[in-house]
Amino acid sequence: MTVITRFPPSPTGSLHIGSARTALFNWLYAHHHGGKFLLRIEDTDLKRSSQTAVDSIFNGLVWLGLTWDGEAIFQSKNLERHTQVAKRLLEAGMAYKCYCTQDELDMMRTAARQQGKRIFYDRRWRDRGPDEALIGLPHVVRIKMPLEGETTIQDHVQGKVTILNEQLDDFIIVRADGTPTYMLSVVVDDHDAGVTHIIRGDDHLNNAFRQHHLYKAANWRIPEYAHIPLIHGAKGEKLSKRHGATSVQEYQDDGFLPDALRNYLLRLGW
Ligand code: GLU
Repeated sequence: MTVITRFPPSPTGSLHIGSARTALFNWLYAHHHGGKFLLRIEDTDLKRSSQTAVDSIFNGLVWLGLTWDGEAIFQSKNLERHTQVAKRLLEAGMAYKCYCTQDELDMMRTAARQQGKRIFYDRRWRDRGPDEALIGLPHVVRIKMPLEGETTIQDHVQGKVTILNEQLDDFIIVRADGTPTYMLSVVVDDHDAGVTHIIRGDDHLNNAFRQHHLYKAANWRIPEYAHIPLIHGAKGEKLSKRHGATSVQEYQDDGFLPDALRNYLLRLGW
């Protein structure tokens, strides 16, 4: 099996050193195994994405020597494919259309809060037949999560992590305006690119459980996961300007050598 890793930044700002570290780990893992390291620009949020950010990602990675295999992929080009997969999941009964109005959702949220429940959507459209569909009215598409049991991920960094399936909601895969959500797009793109190992920040560990079930629903091979701890300040707080430069560009401008930054990022948290 050829190891294929990926780095899928959202181009909403300049390349952050935390993201550069994630890219570095993916690059190293792929190269160590004679595999491939792919770059995918997750530019589906058109309002927040910018060409300046895309340039900063390209420049920062090249400066650090973290070059990618093949052409960089722009996720916005794959939206049709993502919605096709959602359609297939609907046809297979693994997903369903939900016609809840904002008022209904607000009521469910308030009720759940009063009962101290974390998940508010009560799955009221999950088992309704197509004859009950409110044809022509706006709807989202939700995935059917298992209602019982538990899900375990054997993470290469976190170890064995198990959660109860009742903690998983029937999350939205296609919005009311017909656009796919991050959760669907990321799984489809990773699958289509043949990604074998997902190495990313541990802020995505929760998503891994949801994505695990999307892979299963689509009947696709589930990749290996490695969720690495994020870089924090000395007191465990989020990295901010107070701790020094946070973008790769600033180190570049200040005259740091790429080898030095790469070495530092690698050894951080060794
Ligand atoms: N675009 C997502 C991010 O930048 C990718 C997350 C992932 O690696 O799945 O956070």
